[in-house]
Amino acid sequence: MAELGPLTPRPALLGERDYDVAIAGGGYTGLWTAYYLKRLQPSLRICVLERDICGFGASGRNGGWMMAAVEGEARLLAGLDEEARQLAREAILGILPEVEAVLARESIDCDYRRGGGLFAAARYPEQLATQRAHLEHYRALGYSEADYRWLDGEELAGRLRLNNPLGAIYTPHIARIHPARLARGLADSVSALGVDIFEHSPVTGLAAGWLQSEQGAVRAPVRLMAVEGFSWNLPAQRHHVLPVQSRVLATEPLSEAQWTDIGLARYEVFSDASPLITYAQRRADNRLVFGSRGSYRFGGEPRADFSADGEAFTGIARLMRACLPQLEDVAVSHCWGGTLGIPRRACPHAVFDTASGFGTAGGYLGEGVGASNLMARTLADLVLGRDSELAGMPWAHRGLPAAALRHWEPEPLRWLVYKATDKVLGWEESACAGGAPRWRRQLWRSGSAALAALRG
Ligand SMILES: Cc1cc2nc3c(=O)[nH]c(=O)nc-3n(C[C@H](O)[C@H](O)[C@H](O)COP(=O)(O)OP(=O)(O)OC[C@H]3O[C@@H](n4cnc5c(N)ncnc54)[C@H](O)[C@@H]3O)c2cc1C
Repeated sequence: MAELGPLTPRPALLGERDYDVAIAGGGYTGLWTAYYLKRLQPSLRICVLERDICGFGASGRNGGWMMAAVEGEARLLAGLDEEARQLAREAILGILPEVEAVLARESIDCDYRRGGGLFAAARYPEQLATQRAHLEHYRALGYSEADYRWLDGEELAGRLRLNNPLGAIYTPHIARIHPARLARGLADSVSALGVDIFEHSPVTGLAAGWLQSEQGAVRAPVRLMAVEGFSWNLPAQRHHVLPVQSRVLATEPLSEAQWTDIGLARYEVFSDASPLITYAQRRADNRLVFGSRGSYRFGGEPRADFSADGEAFTGIARLMRACLPQLEDVAVSHCWGGTLGIPRRACPHAVFDTASGFGTAGGYLGEGVGASNLMARTLADLVLGRDSELAGMPWAHRGLPAAALRHWEPEPLRWLVYKATDKVLGWEESACAGGAPRWRRQLWRSGSAALAALRG
């Protein structure tokens, strides 16, 4: 956090104020939405109410993979003709060029570097099937060899000295960023455009035409919710999104010699094919940042304190060293966690209901660093009633369609399904890595197939 400079909160909302648009949530979604609305219609009076400080949520603490991708794309594109699919693909692949243009225009320094990604890297034979499925998935969506291509073990080893490299998928459509710098930079840019940002101003209630906060209230014909994994604290949104915690650690800064030993010379991000979902990047300050799939708390309350989480972080460090044994003696200097949101429909959305003035965007399944830019641009177009290409995309919804905002099942069902999924996924590491006996591998395969069927 020291590298971010002073994090003095902006003033809180006090008393009653009138705006044209009020946005709850000062993460990427809320800030990008404010940015595009203000750019498209500078006369709009817009405010952002943030519960803590801008970037406090997942936007300020993620793994920094900015992907030109949206989770659940197959679901979104299902039923579209080839022309519509092509337009959607172009919109998705347009995320990075668009972000690059804004970063340059607004002089936001967030260590952006488009080194591409080496992902779903296989370390043991079972993972090759996962990779093949990934690649087939991209081909079925219409992406070309130039977008996603297979690297064999030798090519992979030339870029990343992974333990037992069997292969990976390479894509040029991923950039590395410093997440908090992007969130804080966006907040400053939005503020400079004339948007009022109130920090330490949680939205505590929604009523027709109003957003209520602790020490004040905003009257606005358009009210947009951009709280993602924190929907839990707003009764009207509580059941849309499952809040899941993911955890990240950072090593001490590594020397050039250590980086030569690891690879990633082009600052590619990487992940292995473990279902524990790993993600890593080489930061500008030469630390390796390594994160992994998180946990869900019964009832859904997001956790704020990850310091008591020693065992979980030890597990992530073990996984990092299993991928990169060169890091055996390297110290972990920082550990943190954050809350992301899993929507029941398993794909993101931008929703605006003209009749009530209510809108929302999100549902990124932990992949919102790039997708939030696309959803925010879409939401801005919906709010302004623009007849744009984005407003016609399959993630754009007019009205309040129940399908897009589908509710999660009640407890204890969600907790049980999450726990069972977690257990089976955890088995893979122990069952397949390190030459486990055949019967254990077979058991793992059957378990994951059964769960995939259950989740589907
Ligand atoms: C550890 C971790 C690693 C991740 N890594 C990646 C990655 O590498 N790549 C990727 O694409 N995605 C990643 N993600 C997911 C990504 O960070 C999110 O999808 C994205 O940041 C969501 O942005 P958002 O603005 O919608 O939500 P958030 O950033 O969570 O913002 C929501 C904001 O709303 C505020 N808020 C909450 N309640 C209220 C209220 N009542 N009133 C007002 N404000 C409120 C919160 O304080 C928060 O600032 C990761 C997430 C985590 C947690």
